[in-house]
Amino acid sequence: NRKILLRSRPQDWPTEETFEFKEEPVPQPGEGQVLVRSIYLSVDPYMRGRMSAAKSYTEPYRIGEVIEGGVVGEVVESRSDKLKPGDKVLGLLGWQLYGVADADKLRKLDEQAAPLSAYLGVIGMTGLTAYFGLMDIGKPKAGETVVVSGAAGAVGSIVGQIAKIQGARVVGIAGSDDKTAWLTEELGFDAAINYKTTTNMQEALARACPQGVDVYFDNVGGEISDAVISQINDYARIALCGAISAYNYSSDEADVGPRVFIKLIKTRSLMKGFVLAEYMDRLPEGARKLGEWLSAGKLKYEETIIEGFDRVPEAFLELFKGSNIGKMLVKVG
Ligand code: NDP
Repeated sequence: NRKILLRSRPQDWPTEETFEFKEEPVPQPGEGQVLVRSIYLSVDPYMRGRMSAAKSYTEPYRIGEVIEGGVVGEVVESRSDKLKPGDKVLGLLGWQLYGVADADKLRKLDEQAAPLSAYLGVIGMTGLTAYFGLMDIGKPKAGETVVVSGAAGAVGSIVGQIAKIQGARVVGIAGSDDKTAWLTEELGFDAAINYKTTTNMQEALARACPQGVDVYFDNVGGEISDAVISQINDYARIALCGAISAYNYSSDEADVGPRVFIKLIKTRSLMKGFVLAEYMDRLPEGARKLGEWLSAGKLKYEETIIEGFDRVPEAFLELFKGSNIGKMLVKVG
């Protein structure tokens, strides 16, 4: 077996020192457990948070332990009557080629219903995050303007499309012309702004949102969010999903936006942070909705798939450089 362990906690950007590749015999399943061979490993921005020792909504990764994360794989050995060899499953197995898990903790996947990779993206963790954050906090109404940052990523690209389904005007913010073109030409966004080439975000936003901003789904934080929040309407709703622009800051650089809180008071707006884990009891509702929209052709999705176990750390780091469109995955089997 090959696994990737956390070697040391990064102070700012993770480096080669952060990760350790280790070879071990393939583990044996115990009673009620199965052995799973990984097919797709998920790399996600939240993993950067778990590499730090700071208190958060999940436990930090421990030094010397495998980096835990979502995996789609195939059961190759079973000591449970719930799963048999050949079954495809989703679980929190982490960055390794083989993993052992309790059969109860794995979800059996239906390959006929959707491609296996989709269970880590559009109908999985990132799609569900988009659904609950937008519908539960953003609550977009027809005719309102929704702005989403990180718009061409796994969460953001689904947020914008769900907002379109609700009848909103949708504006995306992303980091390349290819991405903004994909948002407007393929996904039906009404406008998109490349924050890397736009010299005046305020002006660009004002042009893209002539009626102001009613809902802001924030994936990035920092200056982009300052610019968006400065243009919110009365009773706007801001769903704080992530702040990727700040994840690699060292602690003395941590003074990042948004810094426009007075605007929240003046407009009597709501700003709420959320994590998908809060919605565990409603996951079936989200999965059903996403599945319906997907099969009706109302949701499109993209994946950036990197091949090879050796490239897992690289794929993870590329999230912070923006080389992915849609969900970033590593194919290992
Ligand atoms: P993405 O697929 O969106 O990948 C990350 C993207 O972030 C990159 O493609 C890049 O696109 C953008 N980015 C990177 N650095 C910066 C920066 N400095 N400023 C602006 N944009 C940047 O990842 P996910 O969809 O998986 O996650 C999106 C956000 O949602 C993250 O903040 C993540 O932590 C959060 N999240 C929160 C969850 C929750 O439960 N609250 C669950 C899942 C995700 P670009 O080219 O546009 O810069």
